[in-house]
Amino acid sequence: TATIINGKEIAEKKRMEIAEEVSKLKKLGVTPGLAVILVGNNHASRTYVTNKEKACKELGMNSVLIELPEEISEQELLSKIEELNMDDQIHGILVQLPIPKHIDEKKVIESISPFKDVDGFHPINIGRMMTGQNAFLPCTPYGIMVLLEETGISVAGKHVVVVGRSNIVGKPVGQLFLNQHATVTYCHSKTKDLKGHTNQADILIAAVGIPNFITAEHVKEGAVVIDVGINRNEAGKLCGDVAFAEVSEKAGYITPVPKGVGPMTITMLMFNTLKSAAESLNRN
Ligand code: NAD
Repeated sequence: TATIINGKEIAEKKRMEIAEEVSKLKKLGVTPGLAVILVGNNHASRTYVTNKEKACKELGMNSVLIELPEEISEQELLSKIEELNMDDQIHGILVQLPIPKHIDEKKVIESISPFKDVDGFHPINIGRMMTGQNAFLPCTPYGIMVLLEETGISVAGKHVVVVGRSNIVGKPVGQLFLNQHATVTYCHSKTKDLKGHTNQADILIAAVGIPNFITAEHVKEGAVVIDVGINRNEAGKLCGDVAFAEVSEKAGYITPVPKGVGPMTITMLMFNTLKSAAESLNRN
């Protein structure tokens, strides 16, 4: 049976390292500061935002929550972002998605200074990531790489199959694996013979958003299975994309939901905010 990759434990270890670096930076007169913009009153978004603020405080960072009404105009939001771009106490700017339909999400993301884009969603950071330059890496994909590294799982030469091709998870995680010399296959909703592909995977990434989507039949004996999904099953219980019980009989390693990939996402956001603050020292 599979070894369970304990994301919560690894996240805690990383957070302790980050807290230490934060206190060093503070001695140099810089406190990392994250601005989180929440537009409207989405319940899940509010929970995410609260957790991000809490994590900042725990690690000794500053956080500012900017709550804006649902009906705010695109121009008003862009002006707020511009203000934060200019604010030297703020090292990271995050606009909690989704934002209301009348606002152009791409425009908003591109208005954030690439130096403060701690989500790693700005096209400049995506391009830098693709070409292997210094960049803010998107938090969930980055967290997955750290989970593997901390577990001692090597990536070079492995066949990685990513199921899902979203801009925030599937696409960038495949790119990060490619940067580390894996052979990468992307599968998505139009893929034919999904099982034929996933069964080739030494490392299988499930980022689909459907409970129990990946079953034992999809998995090669001994594979590493990373479950990115955060879903609710019929009983309302939190679950991933992987049928955990049966897949863990067959896999070599597996991440649970909760306490797998989830805790790493906020941790890497904290890391990126710290990185931004540290790099701001060299620019000034
Ligand atoms: P998304 O809906 O944007 O993308 C889902 C992807 O799955 C699509 O690219 C689609 O092509 C693919 N897909 C859908 N049906 C398929 C099928 N039948 N066969 C093969 N592929 C199929 O979702 P997302 O934003 O990438 O999120 C995926 C999951 O990860 C969700 O459950 C989300 O809640 C979760 N998530 C978790 C974290 C975290 O911190 N752990 C972060 C972001 C997203």
